[in-house]
Amino acid sequence: MKRTFVTKDQLVQIAEHYPTPFHLYDEAGIRANMEAVRDAFSWNPGFREYFAVKANPNPALIAILREYGCGCDCSSSAELMIADALGVPGPQIMFSSNDTPAADFKLARELGAIVNFDDISHIPFFEEVAGPIPRTVSCRFNPGGLFRLANGIMDNPGDSKYGMTEEQLFEAFRMLRDRGAKTFGLHAFLASNTVTNEYYPALARILFELAVRLARETGVHVGFVNLSGGVGIPYRPDEPANDIRAIGEGVRRAFEEILVPADMGDVAIYTEMGRFMLGPYGCLVTRAIHEKQIYKDYIGVDACAADLMRPAMYGAYHHITVMGQADGPDKSSWPATRTYDVTGGLCENNDKFAIDRALPEVEIGDLLVIHDTGAHGYSMGYNYNGRLRSAEVLLHADGSTELIRRAESPADYFATLDVLPVGRELIARA
Ligand SMILES: *Cc1c(COP(=O)(O)O)cnc(C)c1O
Repeated sequence: MKRTFVTKDQLVQIAEHYPTPFHLYDEAGIRANMEAVRDAFSWNPGFREYFAVKANPNPALIAILREYGCGCDCSSSAELMIADALGVPGPQIMFSSNDTPAADFKLARELGAIVNFDDISHIPFFEEVAGPIPRTVSCRFNPGGLFRLANGIMDNPGDSKYGMTEEQLFEAFRMLRDRGAKTFGLHAFLASNTVTNEYYPALARILFELAVRLARETGVHVGFVNLSGGVGIPYRPDEPANDIRAIGEGVRRAFEEILVPADMGDVAIYTEMGRFMLGPYGCLVTRAIHEKQIYKDYIGVDACAADLMRPAMYGAYHHITVMGQADGPDKSSWPATRTYDVTGGLCENNDKFAIDRALPEVEIGDLLVIHDTGAHGYSMGYNYNGRLRSAEVLLHADGSTELIRRAESPADYFATLDVLPVGRELIARA
């Protein structure tokens, strides 16, 4: 059984303050997980997690991670601005972009962020649009082919748009060296949402061995290896969670076996986790507003795919707990006696949070918790069908709550029409 981080009574109270739908975040859970990550890699003095801002760009949440020394992994100008506004110093900003616009490279250079080059052609492009190559640089590797782990998990780097071939990587290191770079990093992201303790250690072996060869053949100093993101979370109740201590230990063994004997024991380990840092510590709180019985039974809720796109986009599973309502029973542990599709209101038939899901009897007005929306949840939101983005609420460790992003209003939605008379009329009406 998958547990919610709030009780039914707590949730009823919170939903009296903040109209549904909203994303709710668990500060205590974020902190405990952050501490586990820090401890798992404490064997590496240079370790730093660069939180993947795209997973959840809320500054209040990133500020919590910052307390533990997290940097930011950014991929666009707006994400760089968030890091800068939070006072993140340049070396603690990783700029891991692809297909990068000139303006983004320029801002990354101005902020002193570490630029992680996705392609060899970006090196002359960067020089042209942003200026001289910085002293610290990084390159993204794509080994091609298929990437497999013992438990059958695999991904297809050969079909992915990211990174450089091995040959290009050697060439890029030489180019950057000849243009004055002094400290080099190596980065790869080979599989997403891996629910296994083997992914980081296997990736580390590949990157460590490559780092040794790169250092030998190009004479550069490799300062860090960036394992990027990809550490997964158990979205399904029957999946085992990753053990970050075992993952850190697996990386340490690879480090001792490969880097230490090569006299590269000073290499810092960087990570860019997003999902693992926040995914389980957020949920989407929504209310049942309709029940419809045709060829199947549908529960219509007041959230939609614009609040959480993963089910519509990837067919992703998100667990749902039916909590009930203020004056009704706590349904969170009720047996699943019904089968429903749980839908949002977009005019798209893929706007379903769950299909043929076994759930307890749902009544109109019941609060539902859609689990694991802390990463790639709100941040993937959009405005299709004129739907407005929801609020975000932080549940503090002491049980109090804080609004950390208000819900969008129609005026926000119309704001960019201010160039038209009818747009200004809409904004005035909203
Ligand atoms: C998306 C992304 C991440 C974060 O991935 P998670 O699976 O959320 O951990 C990290 N680095 C880069 C370059 C990414 O694109």
